[in-house]
This record gives sequence, structure tokens and C-alpha cells, in this order.
Amino acid sequence: MSTVQRNMSLTGEPPKTINTQQKLASAIGLIGLAVLFLALFNINFPNKTLWLTASLIAIGGGTVWFSIAAYGNKHEGIKNDGVYFKSLTSKGFWAWVLGITLTLYYVVLYWFPQYLGLVQDGENKGLVALFDPLSKFLNGGPASQWFVYGTLYTVAILAFGIKFILKYRHNKYEKLRTYSVMFFQLGFAFLIPELMQRLNSDSFSLPYYDLKNIWPLNYYNFEQYRVDQFISAGDIGLALLIFGIASIFIITPILTYKYGKRWYCSWVCGCGGLAETAGDPFRHLSDKRQIAWKVERWVIHSVLVFVVLMTTAVVHSYLGDDSSKYWLTKVVFLISVAVILTAVFAGTFIFKREELQKDARYGAIGYFVIIISLIGFHYFSGKTLFLFEAETLRQSYGFLIGAVFSGVIGVGFYPIFGSRVWCRFGCPMAAILGFQQRLFSRFRITTNGGQCISCGNCSTYCEMGIDVRAYAQKGENIVRSSCVGCGICSAVCPRGVLKLENGPLEKRIDSNEILLGNDVDLMKYVNN
Ligand code: SF4
Ligand code: SF4
Repeated sequence: MSTVQRNMSLTGEPPKTINTQQKLASAIGLIGLAVLFLALFNINFPNKTLWLTASLIAIGGGTVWFSIAAYGNKHEGIKNDGVYFKSLTSKGFWAWVLGITLTLYYVVLYWFPQYLGLVQDGENKGLVALFDPLSKFLNGGPASQWFVYGTLYTVAILAFGIKFILKYRHNKYEKLRTYSVMFFQLGFAFLIPELMQRLNSDSFSLPYYDLKNIWPLNYYNFEQYRVDQFISAGDIGLALLIFGIASIFIITPILTYKYGKRWYCSWVCGCGGLAETAGDPFRHLSDKRQIAWKVERWVIHSVLVFVVLMTTAVVHSYLGDDSSKYWLTKVVFLISVAVILTAVFAGTFIFKREELQKDARYGAIGYFVIIISLIGFHYFSGKTLFLFEAETLRQSYGFLIGAVFSGVIGVGFYPIFGSRVWCRFGCPMAAILGFQQRLFSRFRITTNGGQCISCGNCSTYCEMGIDVRAYAQKGENIVRSSCVGCGICSAVCPRGVLKLENGPLEKRIDSNEILLGNDVDLMKYVNN
């Protein structure tokens, strides 16, 4: 009887199964998850502290043991064996199961937290109640759905971070930046904000603040209730507010100039942290087509314009008109926004015009004209800023971008669209950093084109869908807005062609100097 031969490999069989240790590790991890599921269905565990600890240790420990069993006995070097043959990593049945489960989880988290057990005025139930002891230990209060989410998010980054380090243990850069994202997630995103909540009392209240979350990623940072809290919290609050503003205008531009957007997207950010660790097995699923690149540029910059409009409207809505009380009045604020945008736009067109592609020039002009006309329209007519109420804009942004795009699509669809859908198509922070990386940064990936054997590993594993091989074949520097500097293209290259470097701005973008076979009139050289 004939069987269907599904293996396309020329060199050997794809891995058929997992070894015994991996099976045991999977069982332990699944038992840990089962505890959470049972809690979700309102099983009342008698000793919550014990059960929660056991569950988290089982999930984290199972993942780490699985990774040790997978990579421990193998030589150092990248192991992506059989990635296109496994159902989970090749958009098969299990990929859809995981994608739908994650998506449903996000839908419940954002819009139906009561099904997770959240009770507004009373004792929590279900899954949220299981996390109450940990929440009380850290911040002194009962858990919320966001505490549950933050804890599981941190456990995922830590456990899969160790897996990532084992997998890429031959590469110092990959190890260092993974330690970095694990540190920032555990310390800055989880522990510090939770402990800061402990300082709050009836007379003193700091807003929940993940210090590494910079506007426009934390689009809500300058909403009135937060600014009020910052100001009423005295010196500490004021320092945090100033830090939030300095992060945008001083820290981010300096670090991006020196190192490119990788300092944030691959070393600090929580979204990037999850994508690089838990999302690592899905990085090859990113869309590499040119049309995806075009869509990416329009969508991500539209989100950026949206968040600029929304934040301007929100801040404008709560500022006063009386200049004798505050120097920052509505008018001063609007003029400042217009001046900053005009300066950025004019500087780009005067100094960097040649480095912008045609559609980027048209897009920049279009967006600039729209924003400035809306500000001018409001200024001269007194009509509602940007034609909509600030609150409507804020709610629309929070729903469409903050929840649906970044959570439901961004993480829920890891197994289908790859791990960086949000970072590539939706994150306004990535848009700003990418803009600067392309035009005002020392970062580039250099290519030693003569060594390239066109194997395509680099393009396959670029999570941002960049066709790295096309640049390598030409020996051209890679200076792309979307590149998050993860370094995986360089790590998987069997020929050492690619190198992430910081260097002088001159001749950084060298595409004009590349000679392609098609472009060169070889007879000219023969005749000379
Ligand atoms: S080009 Fe390389 S460093 Fe940049 S995002 Fe792609 S894989 Fe990462
Ligand atoms: S992985 Fe290296 S050798 Fe292979 S195509 Fe990319 S640059 Fe060339």
C-alpha cells in the first residue's frame, strides 16, 4: 500500500516526535496551565498562594525543561529543524487552535473581564481570585485582569527567554539582548509599577506607570486624570512627568541616533520582548512580499498621524485659556505642536529629501498638510479640534489601535502572521523610531556581498519581512525603517555576510553605488 510522502527534505527526515524528556516537560507545563483553566471555571482552590505558585512554576519550569531537552544535547548553532513541517509553526491545525485561543483570551481580557472572575465591588472570583495573594503581596490590593495579564506576560518572557538563550547560545548579541528584555519586563514593566502602587494612600496617589513605556506607545500618558495624579503627587509625580516628556524628546532621539531603533524594539520594549521570546518559533511567517512592505508603510504612518492628532486633541481639551494662570494655554500648545511638526517636516525635506522614496515624499506632504490645516482651521474658526471631540478620538484610538490591533491581532495572530505584526504594521513608537533610524541614525547592517551564497536564511527568519538576501546579494547596506535590529539575519547566516554596525552617517545608504548586472553596459568596460 502506498503512503503519501510529505517530506520535501533532500538531506534527511524532519523530526517526527519529541523525546521523552520533552514529553514529560510538556505534561508538567500543561498541568500548570490546567490549574489556571480550572480556576477560570470557578473551581475554588483552598490555598490559592500554593496553587498559584505551583501553577506558575510548572508552566515556567516545564518550558525551561522542554528547551533544555530540545537544545541541550545538540551542538551550538541555530536549530530551526522542521519548522515548516510542524503544524504549530506552519499555519497548520495547531497554529489555528493556538491563534483562536489567544484571540479569545484577548477579547475576554479587554471587553469581558468579568468572565475571568473580576468583581468590581466585592471579592474576586475565578482566575483573577487565584492571583489575589500575589497581587496583595506586591501592591497591597486585590488582583485585576491586568495584573493576571501582566504576570502571565512576564512569566512567558522569562520562560521563553531562557529557551531563546539556549537556542541562540552561540551568539553573544542574542544572549545579551534577551537578558535585557527579561530584565526590563520583570523590573520596569512588572515589579516597579506594582511596588509603586504600595506608596499610594488617601493623600498620595501615583498613576500606574511602566517607566519604559514611552509615548506614543503609552498613548494615554498625558490624559488629564494621569497628569492630575502626577502633579498632585508632588516632587515624585513631577519627576515622573518630566521623565515621560524627556523620554520622548531627549532619551529616545539620542539613543536612536547612536544605536538605531534596536535599543528600544529589541532590548527594552515589552511587545518586542514577547515577540522575540514566545514569538520566536513564528518569525518565519512574516509576509515578505513587496505589497506587504507598501501596506506596512501606509498603515504604520497612518497610525502615527492618528495618535498625534488624538494626543493633541486630548491635551488641548483640558488646557486653560487664561495665560495669567498658566503659561501653557490652549493656543500656546497648538502653536508649539505646529512649530515642532513644521520643523521636523522642513528639516527632513531640506536635508534628507534625496533619501526619501517617492511615495514617502507624497505621504509626508499629505499628512503634514492635513494636520496643519486642521490645526489652522480650529485656530481661526474656533470649531472642534480635528472635527471630532477629543474623547471620541481617544476612545476610537483605544479601541481600534490600543486593543484590537496591538492585542487581539498583534499577539493573537502570532501563529498565523508571524510575531511582529503589531511592531511592523501598527506601533506608532516603531514608526517614529523607524523614521529616525532611516534618516538620522548611525545604525546599518553591512553586507559582505561576495560571500553570500543566496541561501535565503536571512530573509526567511527576518521577522519584519525584510528581504535581507536581496541586499546581501548586491553588497548593499541595509538601512530600513522597519528593521528592529534583532540580529537574527546575521545569526542564521552560514557565511558571516551580515554585520550590525554603528558608523558615520556619510555613505550609509549606498544603493546608488551598487552595480547590478542589468544596469551595467559591460561593453563600455570592454572597450575602455
Ligand atoms: S533585517 Fe535582520 S536585524 Fe533587521 S529585523 Fe530583519 S532579521 Fe532583524
Ligand atoms: S543568510 Fe547569508 S549567505 Fe544566506 S542569503 Fe542571507 S546573507 Fe546570503
